[in-house]
Amino acid sequence: MLLAWLRRLHPGNFRGRLTLWFGLLSLTTLLIVGLYVGRIASLELAEFGGRTLHISARSAADLLASNLSERDREIRLLRESLVFANGDLHNPEIGRMLTVRQQTHDEYAWIGVVDLHGTVLQAPKDLLVGNKIGHWPWYQAALKGPYTGDVHEAQLLAEQFPQRAAKEPMRFIDFAAPILDAQGRVRGVLGAQAHWDWVIDMAEAATTQNATQRQLEMLIADVNGNILYPFHHTGSLQLPKPVQPDKPYEILRWNDDRDYLTSIAEVQAKTSTPLGWRIVLRQPLDDAVRPLRTLHRELEIFGLVVAFVFAFIAYRLATRVSQPIEQLARAVRDVERRDRLPVYPDEHKQINEIRQLSASIQSMTGALLRHEKELKTLNASLEQQVHERTEALSIANQELERLATVDGLTGVHNRRHFDARIKEAFQLLGRSERGFGLLLLDIDHFKSINDRHGHQAGDEVLRRLGQLLTQSTRVTDFVARYGGEEFVVLLPECTDPNEGSAVAEKIRAAVAATDFPEVGQVTASVGLSLARKDDASAEAVVTRADQALYEAKAQGRNRVVAR
Ligand code: GH3
Ligand code: MG
Ligand code: MG
Repeated sequence: MLLAWLRRLHPGNFRGRLTLWFGLLSLTTLLIVGLYVGRIASLELAEFGGRTLHISARSAADLLASNLSERDREIRLLRESLVFANGDLHNPEIGRMLTVRQQTHDEYAWIGVVDLHGTVLQAPKDLLVGNKIGHWPWYQAALKGPYTGDVHEAQLLAEQFPQRAAKEPMRFIDFAAPILDAQGRVRGVLGAQAHWDWVIDMAEAATTQNATQRQLEMLIADVNGNILYPFHHTGSLQLPKPVQPDKPYEILRWNDDRDYLTSIAEVQAKTSTPLGWRIVLRQPLDDAVRPLRTLHRELEIFGLVVAFVFAFIAYRLATRVSQPIEQLARAVRDVERRDRLPVYPDEHKQINEIRQLSASIQSMTGALLRHEKELKTLNASLEQQVHERTEALSIANQELERLATVDGLTGVHNRRHFDARIKEAFQLLGRSERGFGLLLLDIDHFKSINDRHGHQAGDEVLRRLGQLLTQSTRVTDFVARYGGEEFVVLLPECTDPNEGSAVAEKIRAAVAATDFPEVGQVTASVGLSLARKDDASAEAVVTRADQALYEAKAQGRNRVVAR
């Protein structure tokens, strides 16, 4: 069943070709549309994803910037308070103020006052009080002016906090500013170290919306592109240089050898020392365009289904055209072979062109068959005519032949036939030693018979004599009229003179004994000769018989003479 169907789909026939073309055409069209739609969709998706990333990164960066600026300003304002300007740096009031600050802002891991010798004078819970920290970078920097320090580890401070489970080292960022007296001279330094986790929590809080679901990753990079957060990327991952820095997002290849939809937002914090941090949001490109793959698969399935449906419709259409054509071809073949009655396609179901074609073929084959029948009838009558004419011709030919060899008056063979026959007999003698005898017979005084009884009676005598000679000789003997009232009898195989003479005598006697009507008795003289080996020709035999006849006449007629 399937095999038969596939055979009908052969690309050589109309049905197969149309089905194939329609299928391929619809598939190609859908492929092109799919590619186009896919491309537009992927651009749209990247645009949408990129913008979402950018909004998140931007808001995280802004939040971070405002909080960093806030902390920076707070330290600068704090050190300008009267307590620092006029009072004693050992004043316990300062300690209480610092404690309140820390309690208000628990991001501060430590906040304290350091004198010009680098000794910690005051801090909440007296943390690090008395320690010499004069070599710490933020202290050194703050002697010259307000300072904001980048993230760093701080072992001494870290030791003050319970050990954390994570492998990450404890890290801090610094805010510091010099404490000046009324004349603007530096009297000491106010410093604060904030937990790095505070920064992370802020950035995370601003970006975590749906982050895991979309495989989003938030990173914090420093001014050189080194990754500060997450820690497992620190030292290995590097922020790639944006190709188009103005664009809110880009597809960038990172040094982990993957493409990411990446958005970089600068943390524009108004800190004393510019930090140049950047909040980076990245999403693997595969994940960003994952919905597109689903769209592609759906388009492929849709394309295949549509191609199949189109091909099927084309097949049905082509079948409507090709089936009646095949049926017509079968009908014409049947007409050609004459082995069965042709079956033509049902006219009502067909399209106009096929109906016209079918009608033309039917009328053509009808006319063909009619003409053939007429031709057959004509042929038969022609054959009958030819047969009749041939028969008549053959009868006429036989008659002609008979007339050519028979004497018209007497009915015996004529002279021409005799000449041929004696030549044959002579040739036979030359080849096979078979001799022959020849009788030459002449009616005696025939002229006077004519004269006395009339020419008609003379003719009648000649006729009767012919019959008589035929009756008196054997079937193998050959009787002919030699001319006028002379007859010849050829005796095949006759080599004996006595036998020849006996035949001649018998004939002569029969003539003499016959009573011819109106004429009465008629006699004839006979000359006999036998063919001889040394005869030069048949004429020689005739000449001898003629001489014998002459002698018979001379000896008184009504006799036989042999020579
Ligand atoms: P013989 O032979 O005895 O010497 O005498 P004959 O009268 O027979 O001699 P000849 O040969 O001279 O004459 C032959 C005659 O035969 C002459 C001719 O009128 C006649 N004759 C020849 N052919 C025909 C013929 O077809 N019909 C008739 N009625 N007569 C013929
Ligand atoms: Mg004669
Ligand atoms: Mg004669």
